[in-house]
Amino acid sequence: MLPVNEEKNSPLILVIDDDVTIRFMINETLETLGFIVEEAENGIQGIERARELKPDIILLDVMMPEMDGFTACPQIREIPHCRHTPVLMMTGLDDIESINKAYQVGATDFATKPLNYTLLSHRLLYMLRSKQTADELRANQEKLDHAQRLAKLGYWEWDLNNFVTWSEQVTETFWLPKGKTCGELSYFFQNLHKKDMEKVRAALKLAKEKEQNFSLEYRIRNREGKVRIIFHEAKVNYNEGRKPISLIGTIQDITERKRAEYEIQKLANYDKVTGLPNRTSLRQKLEKIIARAPSSQQVTAILTLDLDHFKRLNDTLGHQAGDQLLRKIASRLNEFIENSAYGSVDLTSTRLQQKKHALELTLSHFGGDEFVILIDGAPTIENVASIARKLNEIIAEPIDLDGNVISMTASIGISAWPEDGKDVDTLLKQSGSALYHAKSEGRNCYKFFTAAMNARAFERLSLEINLRKAIEKEQFMLFYQPKVDALSGSILGMEALIRWKHPELGMISPADFIPVAEQTGMIIPIGQWIFEEACRFLNKIEEHNLPPLTVALNLSGAQFTQKGLPEELGNSVAKAGIAPQQIELEITESLLMENIEEAIKIMNRLREIGFSIAIDDFGTGYSSLSYLKRFPAATLKIDQSFIRDIDKDADDRSIVQAIITLAHSLRLKVVAEGIEKREQLAVLREQGCDLIQGYYYSHPLCCEDFLDWISNREDDPVDELEATMAI
Ligand code: C2E
Ligand code: MG
Ligand code: MG
Repeated sequence: MLPVNEEKNSPLILVIDDDVTIRFMINETLETLGFIVEEAENGIQGIERARELKPDIILLDVMMPEMDGFTACPQIREIPHCRHTPVLMMTGLDDIESINKAYQVGATDFATKPLNYTLLSHRLLYMLRSKQTADELRANQEKLDHAQRLAKLGYWEWDLNNFVTWSEQVTETFWLPKGKTCGELSYFFQNLHKKDMEKVRAALKLAKEKEQNFSLEYRIRNREGKVRIIFHEAKVNYNEGRKPISLIGTIQDITERKRAEYEIQKLANYDKVTGLPNRTSLRQKLEKIIARAPSSQQVTAILTLDLDHFKRLNDTLGHQAGDQLLRKIASRLNEFIENSAYGSVDLTSTRLQQKKHALELTLSHFGGDEFVILIDGAPTIENVASIARKLNEIIAEPIDLDGNVISMTASIGISAWPEDGKDVDTLLKQSGSALYHAKSEGRNCYKFFTAAMNARAFERLSLEINLRKAIEKEQFMLFYQPKVDALSGSILGMEALIRWKHPELGMISPADFIPVAEQTGMIIPIGQWIFEEACRFLNKIEEHNLPPLTVALNLSGAQFTQKGLPEELGNSVAKAGIAPQQIELEITESLLMENIEEAIKIMNRLREIGFSIAIDDFGTGYSSLSYLKRFPAATLKIDQSFIRDIDKDADDRSIVQAIITLAHSLRLKVVAEGIEKREQLAVLREQGCDLIQGYYYSHPLCCEDFLDWISNREDDPVDELEATMAI
């Protein structure tokens, strides 16, 4: 049986020979064996016939007129379908040189004349069989190459020194010079992404020095500078003696796969219309948050925001306009959230930032007209309310939809964790119920799930609104409380304490409104007013021919950290004609401890200008003695909580004694505040306290009452006290 290929039943042999007898003999022998034999008389004719016939084997004579076999053979090889066709060169010359030449010009084998025709037929059969095997191998190799090209899979081998060989696919993937398939290792680093360079070097080093195989993903840049992602696998290759001889591996461009993975992930976690994180991703984020222990100082809340009457607009203007509207709202909300995360004055005062309250807002789109905002790390529930109010304002701004200006409003429902629910489902459900409540209350508003939170938010809102008007309506007053020398009983100064006289709510305590003023940034204009008012009062004291007194002013966090504060205060006193030495600035211990280095800098600057500094409420914060030494303060005010029971409680007495001793060793004056009883005063005098402040001498008084009080002060309570003690 002949090893015939499947398309042609009989193998086709092309005989190129000028000798008609030989052609005839070959024809006769082979045709009886089932071959088809075609003939050509010389090289030129032979090339022609090979082109048109696609022979399975070519028998080629060497010596021929017109064109000999040595010349014809290379030209036959150039015909694409003859590149691998076996060529048996028939030579009458039995010399080695001709045989060598035959191979050089591309012959597969040779046979010497005169030919042994029986042997020739067997030889052809073997040639055919090996051609078939070679064809199959080539086809497989091509398939493999094709598959590797499709998979963008390249392979390489590194000799562990500086020489690498690689496949064409590597050349293509790494943008190496065309046709280059070996070279120095540095070729691979040419287009590597700078940030991944170290990672790749380290992996190669470990492979070489520690014989560690690796799989690695890294980035390269193509000619246009676009990033491609490469998956690189490498394995150490050993010789028979288990000595590493090379590193072999594959590289694969996985950019498309990565892109597809990203797209899948995007589809699963982001909303199609707005591109915002969807329900799934918000749930994941919330789950992470509630896996940690709740903080008593920070609030986590969920705001479900639903556009009012969105369906009506969607039906009237069409779905496309509806989608456009949702995208506009999404980008507005997004902008607000990105800005607020960096702390707009309204949400996070500088003080809050210093405390590292990582206020984080996450916006998501649950589909339809429902957006959900996750707030984490808000200082108070009131802050959550003010964010909700801001969201309402943002949505209410007019929206231009291709020339149609429309107005939108939203209703917001709020639930807080863990108060309203300990798990994600409950929290979402409760904020949904609160949303329903907001809708039923007339829309365009926000509602908390819990009634108590609603009440607090309402109270805070009205306080905030009223506070904004209080300066222009002149509702603030500055009260003064005297500070008395503990030994002589003479008045050395006073502390200015703000009062808010509200026409309906009456006197509002600073403890209630100062924190709101801080968080809303209103403390800055209020602080300025206090400062000017205190200067006016000092001038008034002078007009009354009273001995000069110092006034102590409280500085809040936002004021203290306000940029350029020392210079601003310096200018204000100069303008009022007051010496800065007449003003003492009280700063609470806990505020100073928030950012010690910064606090020291500000205090030094204030002192340079001439202000003196008192550390207020000492004992309530860290009471760190080592820091106390570094603060350029002149006075220490012991917090009232230590004074309250000082006459009865031995512990308090020892604490106060320790503070006084320490303060004196640091050359600080000590003020005790909150003295209401003479017994308390007696202890403090004995302990060496320098100044006394409290109801015992006087409640804080308005300007006129204070002046009256000083002028009419006849009895020195110290004398009175001494009389009492003597009894
Ligand atoms: P503070 O600076 O420690 O002020 C002392 C507080 O103790 C004042 O309360 C004062 O009225 C009260 N007090 C004085 N003597 C006694 C006493 O014998 N017994 C008792 N129980 N209390 C006494 P006030 O005026 O309500 O102020 C509370 C806090 O509000 C102040 O604490 C201060 O931190 C802040 N504050 C007051 N006025 C201002 C201000 O003008 N600016 C700023 N930033 N904060 C102020
Ligand atoms: Mg004070
Ligand atoms: Mg105090």
